[in-house]
Amino acid sequence: MTKKERYGFVISYFSEHAPNAETELVYDNPYQLLVAVVLSAQCTDKRVNMTTPALFAKYPTVFQLAKAEYEDLFDIIKSISYPGNKTRHLMGMANMLVEKFGGEVPLTVEELMQLPGVGRKTANVITSVVDNQPNMAVDTHVFRVAARIGLTNNAKTPLAAEMQLIKHIPKELIYVAHHWLILHGRYICVARTPKCEECGLKIACKYYHFHKEII
Ligand code: SF4
Repeated sequence: MTKKERYGFVISYFSEHAPNAETELVYDNPYQLLVAVVLSAQCTDKRVNMTTPALFAKYPTVFQLAKAEYEDLFDIIKSISYPGNKTRHLMGMANMLVEKFGGEVPLTVEELMQLPGVGRKTANVITSVVDNQPNMAVDTHVFRVAARIGLTNNAKTPLAAEMQLIKHIPKELIYVAHHWLILHGRYICVARTPKCEECGLKIACKYYHFHKEII
């Protein structure tokens, strides 16, 4: 199977089976999504969704979050991984949003990456989810699944994987393709033992062909 055929198969499969894939983070506006994505680093969306209602109740806008006391915010997010760092990041992020961006979440990757706690992956998530921009956020699931299927070849870094993926996925599908891969990695192509027998991508998957020796 050529790379073009492999991409074609994967895109057709997900277009049919998960046309409306979306983030599992619960949010109402770009501010809430940004906070949730920052909290989700090294943490499950489920855990983040258990935490954010209390956070958004106490800090309904970025202006209120910018005035948060460290101890109060830490107390709300303490069950999430790296609560100290994330408390500092959220406070710094909220302050910069207020001081530099008038309290609005900017929608360019370059501007977002200026915010404390916001790297390329987070910036790609925000711009693709809020604005359907053709930016591919590569997290651990996307990185693993893309490599196993053979959508990426010898990508050593998330950035290298991102570049390979956006080169082959039609621009108008990139925002949703991120969710296809992340959800597939979360529920089917899981890290330790991928559930290949129930996976609809077997025919096109390099890992499957190599490990199961079916062809
Ligand atoms: S066949 Fe297996 S390794 Fe390939 S994508 Fe599916 S679950 Fe992952």
